Amino acid sequence: MGIEGNGMNFGDTSMIDPFGRAISYLRVSVTDRCDFRCTYCMAEDMTFLPKRDLLSLEELDRLCTVFIEKGVKKLRLTGGEPLVRKNIMHLVRDLSRHIESGALEELTLTTNGSQLQRFAAELAECGVRRINVSLDTLDPAKFKQITRWGDISKVMAGIDAAQAAGLKIKINAVALKGFNDYEIPGMLRWAHGRGMDMTVIETMPMGEIDEDRTDQYLPLSLLRAQLEREFTFADIPYKTGGPARYVEVAETGGRLGFITPMTHNFCESCNRVRLTCTGTLYMCLGQDDAADLRAALRASEGNELLSNAIDEAIGRKPKGHDFVIDRRTNRPSVSRHMSVTGG
Ligand code: SAM
Ligand code: SF4
Repeated sequence: MGIEGNGMNFGDTSMIDPFGRAISYLRVSVTDRCDFRCTYCMAEDMTFLPKRDLLSLEELDRLCTVFIEKGVKKLRLTGGEPLVRKNIMHLVRDLSRHIESGALEELTLTTNGSQLQRFAAELAECGVRRINVSLDTLDPAKFKQITRWGDISKVMAGIDAAQAAGLKIKINAVALKGFNDYEIPGMLRWAHGRGMDMTVIETMPMGEIDEDRTDQYLPLSLLRAQLEREFTFADIPYKTGGPARYVEVAETGGRLGFITPMTHNFCESCNRVRLTCTGTLYMCLGQDDAADLRAALRASEGNELLSNAIDEAIGRKPKGHDFVIDRRTNRPSVSRHMSVTGG
């Protein structure tokens, strides 16, 4: 993708990395905690950050605001589960001023849906238009098995509430070999039948979990071939600012996205960076290099130090990632869990 396609805006103070990519998309993990324990994401007995290490909601707002001033147009809240962070709606409401002013084009979130029933209407009121809901199966027993702690009826009630509030939903499913591969056609019909796009994601080797990742890994090239026995796909140039490649499904009229970090390197058009709830900035989901923005944030009340620290970090954004599932050692290629940086 060309630089223009990355949302670069010549003449402003855009953040441009060493490979000419304009950074216009910030993903913020507002908490590493979660009310689920999805088997591919977390171990059951996770140790979470002590609460005192977390940035306050005011600090998160200040950081996001500096990023928006520096050219971020799309901001996604994630986690852990973003909607379990205490008083999270204060942050959403504060950030909505940037939607109102036009500085920010999109404020969105990725959620497991468990708390949506409670928050959907308020999210819509705050200018959120689209959300991603992660859902790997429609079968209540399998849902319990994969999330360990989740209750699918709450997620379904959350999806109903979000649609009633006018939020557009995209369903994200992680493709898991032998778990949901044969269920994806049914999920696709269900999602498209309710007017929701769907995206399938390859599992990424991030963080120690209780299972063997090589058992879970399903290349999406295989899944796509399986699906094409039943559905007719047409590649379309549709983009949401993320790394998914979309097809339109003739039989349902809906869109299906493929996110293939393992089989296809999508880094050349990468426009995003990720901020954790402790103020650490990861320039790449698949690399360990990071910049501590909390020190710069707390060192002064003005934003100059922070702005310089961000520029310095963007100057180190790597060309790409190199995920491998190491079959010999079964060690993750990135030691942190997905819940630290968000998906
Ligand atoms: N809790 C929220 C949720 O589940 O949507 C937001 C955070 S979760 C870490 C974001 C996304 O990452 C989810 O769609 C989840 O399925 C996905 N995910 C988690 N661990 C993953 C892994 N190891 N490989 C691929 N996707 C993963
Ligand atoms: Fe929680 Fe999301 Fe990870 Fe599942 S994928 S454990 S819902 S953070």
